[in-house]
Amino acid sequence: MRIGVDLGGTKIEGVALDDDGEVRARRRVATPRDDYDGTVEAIARVVTELEAETGTTATVGVGMPGAISPATGLVKNANSTWLIGRKLEKDLVRRLGRPVRFANDANCFALSEAVDGAAAGARVVFGVIVGTGTGGGIVVGGRVLTGPNAIAGEWGHNPLPWPRAGEWPGPACYCGKTGCIETFLSGPGLARDYAGGGADGVTGHEVAARAARGEAAAEEALARYEDRMARALASVLNVLDPDVVVLGGGVSQIARLYENVPRLWAAHVFSDRVDTRLVPPRHGAASGVRGAAWLWGFTTGEGTASPST
Ligand SMILES: [Zn+2]
Repeated sequence: MRIGVDLGGTKIEGVALDDDGEVRARRRVATPRDDYDGTVEAIARVVTELEAETGTTATVGVGMPGAISPATGLVKNANSTWLIGRKLEKDLVRRLGRPVRFANDANCFALSEAVDGAAAGARVVFGVIVGTGTGGGIVVGGRVLTGPNAIAGEWGHNPLPWPRAGEWPGPACYCGKTGCIETFLSGPGLARDYAGGGADGVTGHEVAARAARGEAAAEEALARYEDRMARALASVLNVLDPDVVVLGGGVSQIARLYENVPRLWAAHVFSDRVDTRLVPPRHGAASGVRGAAWLWGFTTGEGTASPST
C-alpha cells in the first residue's frame, strides 16, 4: 500500500493506493495555517487514519508547494510561508518513524500522469500546472527528475522566448524579475492581458468563455496566449524533447489549446517535424495525491519501476 499526501495551503488530502492505483481510502482535513507543528501533526494523523482504515502499513509520499533544499534539508520556495526554513522532512520522519519522500506538486502531477494518466507509457514527460502560477515537472522512465537545486522543470521564471513587440521587458513578476513566462501564461496573466494591463476582475477562465462566445477582444487575447504558450513550450521541447506534454491546472480546461498550440510551436522547434503530443490531464486535481503515492515506485505491465530519487 502507498499513501500519498497533498499538502496544500488550505487543505491536506491523503489517499491510500493499492498496487493497481485503486483508491482504498481517502482523507481530507483543513491545513492548520501559520501553525508549523500543527501541520506536521495533521499530516501524521491523515497517515495514521488511512492505515487504520485499510488495516495495513504503507509507504508515505508527500507533495507540497515548493521544495526541500537538498543542501540544507529546509523547505524553500513554498507559498505556504509558515513551512519555509523548517525541517519538514526530518520532523515528519521522526513523527511517523519511517522514511518519507517529498516532491513539489508539479512533479507529483507529472509523475501521476506518467504512471497511469494521460502520458501513460511515454518515456519522457513534461507536466505543467498552469493556474494561478506556472509550475513544471519532468518524469523520465517513470522517475521524477531532480537535481542539486530541486528545480528541474521549473520553466515559469524563465523569460518568454522570441518576444514580440510589446512583450519586452514585460510585466513585473513576484520573483523580482520582469517578463517571466508565468506573468504571461498564468490565469491571472491571461486576465491581465485581456484587460489591457488593468485589472477588471475577469478571470482567465472567463476570458476563454468570452472568446468561445465570439467576443473579439477575448478572442484576440486567447490567440496571443496560444502563441505565447507555443513559444514557451517550444523552448522546453528544444532542451528536453519530451514525448508528451501534459497540461494541468485551470488553464488545461481550455480545449482549443490542444490543437492550436502544437500547430504554433512547430515554427519554433528545431526540427523538421514535431511528434511531441500536448494532452489534457486524466487525473487532474487528484494527481497531487496520486503522484505523491507513486514516489515510492509502481508496478506496470512491464515490471516494477524504480522509485524516484
Ligand atoms: Zn518570475
